[in-house]
Amino acid sequence: MGINAPRSKKLLIALLVAVLAAAGIFLILTQKEYSLDFMAMDTYDSVKVSGLEAKAAAEKAREITENLDVNVLSRHSEKSLIYALNRDGKAKIPTEYSQYFNTMTGAFYESGGAFDFTLGKISDLWGIGTDNERVPEEDEIKAALDKAGADKAVFDGGTFTVPEGLSVDMGAAGKGIALDEIRKAYGSMLVRRAVVSLGGSILLYGKGDFTVGIQTPGGSGYMAVLNLKQCCVSTSGSYERYFEKDGVRYHHILDPETGYPADSGLVSVTVVSDSGTLSDILSTACFVLGLENGKALCEKFGCEAVFIDIENTVHVTDGIKDKLEITDDTYRIEESR
Ligand code: AMP
Ligand code: MG
Repeated sequence: MGINAPRSKKLLIALLVAVLAAAGIFLILTQKEYSLDFMAMDTYDSVKVSGLEAKAAAEKAREITENLDVNVLSRHSEKSLIYALNRDGKAKIPTEYSQYFNTMTGAFYESGGAFDFTLGKISDLWGIGTDNERVPEEDEIKAALDKAGADKAVFDGGTFTVPEGLSVDMGAAGKGIALDEIRKAYGSMLVRRAVVSLGGSILLYGKGDFTVGIQTPGGSGYMAVLNLKQCCVSTSGSYERYFEKDGVRYHHILDPETGYPADSGLVSVTVVSDSGTLSDILSTACFVLGLENGKALCEKFGCEAVFIDIENTVHVTDGIKDKLEITDDTYRIEESR
């Protein structure tokens, strides 16, 4: 018995190794990949997931996005919280979402009002991306601007209150909020890697490296790539939604000071952040602010950004300079001054 003990121990170890190896092979063989395309939040969305729960995770992303759109964020869906807020001037915000409303309020003040989530009435006047696109009269814009302003909205951590006639519009933050909710859900699912793309906002989830293309403004394909670890990336561009009238292009990102499309010398801003909400908010805010003030805003929030100006010059914040590769030589990178 005593003489056999080491031998049986060896056998046990060998058995254990075999079981672990089999389990490893089983895990590798059962890793799945799943892709899903859908429409929600007024844009094309796509999900690519790998992992044991790939299919469930892709479907979860769609479910979260659609639910947030229809029941929470859309100002056009009669079932939504924001619809009720705009109609009644008051709405209770469920605790799980209060952080997002705090972030939005903070970003309004930090951006000096460039990110303003109360421009719904002005967006409606322009109707960009709808059948009612038109250049509004100046007095219409002025009247709508008088009613707007996130400083008039009060969020006490539980209840959101807005004055009559003010229209909250989550268009510049909603996709980022959805990405943050999806990432939270993936934390308790068997997801190895995922790329979730909601319009111009993307979640990169999982270990290892990811490559993300920056869309060619006004063209097809990509003009540069960013090599990143897991994070969120949002792009705001004047080429995304616009109409032309009498040779003038009117796009969907509004300058809250004037009520007209922002004219800051940029055509696209891409922001990289750990937070989807912040990347989405800041890409819009930076587009309005322009290069210098936009860079300063990103620094305040610890985010990185790529700015493309109307002359095809690319400007990058220091933290991601070495992660950007220009792939289209009609664009040139601005050398540090
Ligand atoms: P994004 O594509 O994320 O830059 O968001 C643009 C959308 O946000 C627009 O379609 C409007 O619904 C809304 N929006 C436009 N201008 C602003 C702004 N300055 N601040 C906040 N939301 C805006
Ligand atoms: Mg945005």
